[in-house]
Amino acid sequence: MTQHSDQPSNPKRRQLIQSAAAAFGVAALHAPAADAAGSHAAPAAGASAPAAASDTVDVVVVGAGLSGLTAARELLRKGHSVAVLEGRDRVGGRTWTIPVGTRRYDIGGQFVGPSQDRIRALVTEFGLRLQPVYSDAKHIWELPGQRIEFTGTVPSLSLIAKIDLGRLIDKMNQIAQAVGTTAPWAAPDAAALDAMTLAQWVREHSFSESTRHFATIMTRAVLGADPDEISVLYWAYYVAQGDSIEMLISGAGGAQDSVIEGGSQQLSLRMAQELGAAVRLTQPARRVVQAADGVDVYTDTARIHARYAILALPPAMAAGIAFEPSLAGDRRELQSRAPMGRYAKVVLTYDKPFWREHGYAGDVASLQGPVVATYDDASLEGSALLGFIGGDSERAWRSLSAEARKAAVLDCFARWFGPEALKPVAYAEKDWTIDDWTNGAPATILPPGVLSRLGPALRQPIGRIHWAGTETALRWTGYMDGAIRAGEQTAKDVLGLLSS
Ligand SMILES: Cc1cc2nc3c(=O)[nH]c(=O)nc-3n(C[C@H](O)[C@H](O)[C@H](O)COP(=O)(O)OP(=O)(O)OC[C@H]3O[C@@H](n4cnc5c(N)ncnc54)[C@H](O)[C@@H]3O)c2cc1C
Repeated sequence: MTQHSDQPSNPKRRQLIQSAAAAFGVAALHAPAADAAGSHAAPAAGASAPAAASDTVDVVVVGAGLSGLTAARELLRKGHSVAVLEGRDRVGGRTWTIPVGTRRYDIGGQFVGPSQDRIRALVTEFGLRLQPVYSDAKHIWELPGQRIEFTGTVPSLSLIAKIDLGRLIDKMNQIAQAVGTTAPWAAPDAAALDAMTLAQWVREHSFSESTRHFATIMTRAVLGADPDEISVLYWAYYVAQGDSIEMLISGAGGAQDSVIEGGSQQLSLRMAQELGAAVRLTQPARRVVQAADGVDVYTDTARIHARYAILALPPAMAAGIAFEPSLAGDRRELQSRAPMGRYAKVVLTYDKPFWREHGYAGDVASLQGPVVATYDDASLEGSALLGFIGGDSERAWRSLSAEARKAAVLDCFARWFGPEALKPVAYAEKDWTIDDWTNGAPATILPPGVLSRLGPALRQPIGRIHWAGTETALRWTGYMDGAIRAGEQTAKDVLGLLSS
């Protein structure tokens, strides 16, 4: 029998639910995660004894990434019972901190920017520290037939190319401000901006080849897509969410300003610890059934009945879940028309940061690829370089053998920083494009015609189903900060309903 409560769980009820948890075999699901990262600070069963392990809870959350865990934690803190269903055998979703050689590195989301106040608050709450990226040295841009080395923020292009690039960036920032973050589909020129790819727009608003190359590197690195795959409206919205193009692409002072010492997955591991037995790993949601008295979420082995469900995963992943009744309005169509970017990340560790000794910061923006963007890992003791392979670069790279993929990556780093780069102590790669639980990264990309028509369906609840995940954030969508922000917001919305 379903038991709902808008009140804090009382000890008797808690006890009942704990017994149910034991009967349900929840403890077994919290055995240390068996992923390659050995990321096991898996929550101890019943660590904080939440009323969360029953098959009847106030709110069932699907997805134990930053967003789902944030939402669940907020609800638990307000006294509501929750269950968090996660398909993987670990928490953290698109954040994952894995051993590479003797230390641990982020093979997923990593960087934190100065205006990302939600993630910064969580870092502080957990007593973690941010480490600024190493940037006070030479940067490299690699355009076809041209290698540009520069210090500061502006690459040493010809005057005319600089003016062209500066104008393009200013124009896009202005459009982004007009489009805004709350309802881009309602912006004055939404339909026209959404009818055009970014590639078309860049061609119309630039005359220099280097500006067009810049646009390709930018979207490959930021979104894992080429400019001909996304609409101008979507890009403008993405830029608005992250303040400006400069903010999205910059290291120091921008979205790539700092990293979390010890890795960003710690945030999810800590939240999961607090949630204890509420987090159920390897329990993918397969079916969501809404009825008058609540919502049932079915996994392969369990049925969770709740008053509300929060689905904290990208639209493309929600498309893999069956809904009864069928999703209302535009949501179903949105889910089938909102793919993820194509994105892989590599980490290379070395005996010493030899690139620093040669005067390089370790960051590169390259059109030649396959690696399109790199950074110095910013670790204090270790020395590592990391790289991103995005958009069409990833497509070509993905089809190579494992040895050829590694060789292609090493070749890039040797081209930029010299032959010492050919001998890393350890090498790791992860192609998120072929990850079953993400289907691409770092975030959702929207081609022309989608955001203006189907945008409202991103956040609009359907009956008892509420959406979270970075894709629903009102700020910093696509980023870890957006994921946390969206989790907080959706928890607030659902809390309002639970207490009404
Ligand atoms: C390589 C890479 C680099 C990145 N770099 C940065 C960066 O430097 N800075 C930054 O801020 N962000 C970065 N990001 C993006 C950032 O990691 C994400 O925006 C953020 O982690 C998303 O969190 P989320 O909770 O919204 O979604 P997710 O982390 O995707 O969580 C969703 C969860 O749902 C689970 N799931 C899916 N389907 C089901 C189902 N049917 N049932 C149950 N569970 C399911 C998934 O396994 C996943 O755990 C990067 C991402 C990647 C992959």
